[in-house]
Amino acid sequence: MYTATAQLGGATVTARKTVDGDSPLGHDWTYTATWSEDNTTVTFDFICNRDKSHTDQVTVKAIKETVKAADCTTTGLDRLSASYEKDGLLATASKDVVTSALGHDYKDGVCTNCGAKDPNYKATPTSTPGGTAPDTGDGTDLLAWTVLLLACAGALTAVLRRRARQISGKHN
Ligand SMILES: [Zn+2]
Ligand SMILES: [Zn+2]
Repeated sequence: MYTATAQLGGATVTARKTVDGDSPLGHDWTYTATWSEDNTTVTFDFICNRDKSHTDQVTVKAIKETVKAADCTTTGLDRLSASYEKDGLLATASKDVVTSALGHDYKDGVCTNCGAKDPNYKATPTSTPGGTAPDTGDGTDLLAWTVLLLACAGALTAVLRRRARQISGKHN
């Protein structure tokens, strides 16, 4: 290990160079980064530009940073990164990975994560204690309401017609 120290504008600058036995200049590393299949580790393959027989390989655990968390219906984004310093050369690798939406986690017809209602949920009498009104989103209930509504509309029309006749009768 050779160490050179110089005074530069009042600051002390130190440069270090590791020299191996074969080359007086030391290694001149370049590297390639390879992600593992599951994106948990990065393998850095170092090779010396001065002598291709000088190689090194290190596998580093990736650090995961959540850029955007996924929720029930939208995807998230994770930023994965790894780095390794070799003889003053900082090898880095990073990638962004889209994470899939989590999907709703329904319990008693309501999502425990976001509060969304389960469109397929059918309220059963046993699950609504205390006499609370059952969900009127049920198909048969809807039909009953429609019939009732049409009956009302018909009755109203009849009343209006009768009234119209009475009014016209007065004027004649
Ligand atoms: Zn070398
Ligand atoms: Zn949800």
